[in-house]
Amino acid sequence: MKVLSILVNENEKIDNSSLEVFSFVDNLPDIASSSALVFGGDKHSLSKLPVDEIFFVSIDNQVVNPNDILLTIDKFIDENNFDIIIFQKDDLSNYVAPSISFRKAIPYLPDVKKFITKEKNILKLVRPIHGESAEAIYSVSLENSVILKMRKSSFEPKPLSSVDKDVKEILLQPEKDKTFNILETNKAEPEGIQLDDADIVISGGRGIGGKEGFEKIKELANILNGAVGASRAAVESEWIETSQLVGLTGKWISPNLYFTFGISGASQHLAGCINSKNIVAVNNDPDASIFLHSKFGVIADCNEFLDEVIEEIKNIQ
Ligand SMILES: Cc1cc2nc3c(=O)[nH]c(=O)nc-3n(C[C@H](O)[C@H](O)[C@H](O)COP(=O)(O)OP(=O)(O)OC[C@H]3O[C@@H](n4cnc5c(N)ncnc54)[C@H](O)[C@@H]3O)c2cc1C
Repeated sequence: MKVLSILVNENEKIDNSSLEVFSFVDNLPDIASSSALVFGGDKHSLSKLPVDEIFFVSIDNQVVNPNDILLTIDKFIDENNFDIIIFQKDDLSNYVAPSISFRKAIPYLPDVKKFITKEKNILKLVRPIHGESAEAIYSVSLENSVILKMRKSSFEPKPLSSVDKDVKEILLQPEKDKTFNILETNKAEPEGIQLDDADIVISGGRGIGGKEGFEKIKELANILNGAVGASRAAVESEWIETSQLVGLTGKWISPNLYFTFGISGASQHLAGCINSKNIVAVNNDPDASIFLHSKFGVIADCNEFLDEVIEEIKNIQ
């Protein structure tokens, strides 16, 4: 099988979570070749990607038109036959992956989190359904090509290769009669450590009670060198910025420690944090479902417990 992984690079260097896709490829049997097509970033930083062939397209992330990316991929896959085309979960691929599927009339399966088997020409893959409350096994035929979009934080990032490979540059294919133009992109720059990269995340939910509670969450995150997360209830109450939302409609994270205060553990929240190595939950309801998924649970008032934890850690430090 010939596999193509398509990445959109928002920074100079490829970020670690983008390397998860190559661990997924490692799980697949009968791989004849694995290629990467990377949009954006610094071409020279790509030479150690753990694939057989590396292709690079230079873009200006601020103003790139998704239709230009679409046409470039369309042409590239016409010229090189791939059995499996894999996208990562990001804003651009949310638009581009289904559009390619429509243009080429090939099947598209988003949110893939696991490969089970390949029997003859059928791949069996797992994706969550019903807002993460169940998983479904999909049989995908490889008679023609297939497009998959990976669920973030489902695989460990694959280490970079120790040898440098040639990075071949191909040109962006601009759409002739533009249906729309992107004039500029203004990205929110959250303060402190970014959720995606954090080893420790301290999250607050409705039980934290207000903005004052989040000041304490921020203080603890600061002391532990961690990032601040939140449930949708807290974000919708405007106690914390939307950029900190964890869950189905927010960030998908897998820190070493996920410390929650006043979060019930709804399936949509768990979707974004279930891959954390250790979940520690504080909730005053002993039946809260977050306790079913946590390594340690504390039945307490979360604000009182937060004050005590901050004081204890300050004493130790
Ligand atoms: C399509 C869809 C997508 C969604 N996406 C997301 C998502 O991405 N992320 C997300 O988080 N949610 C998402 N939700 C919402 C989700 O279903 C829950 O409503 C939300 O996660 C609840 O947030 P919460 O746990 O903070 O609030 P609640 O469920 O209200 O829980 C509050 C918890 O705090 C505890 N508590 C109260 N007071 C205290 C106290 N003083 N001390 C200790 N504990 C206390 C309570 O016992 C309770 O368990 C989505 C919903 C839908 C339908």
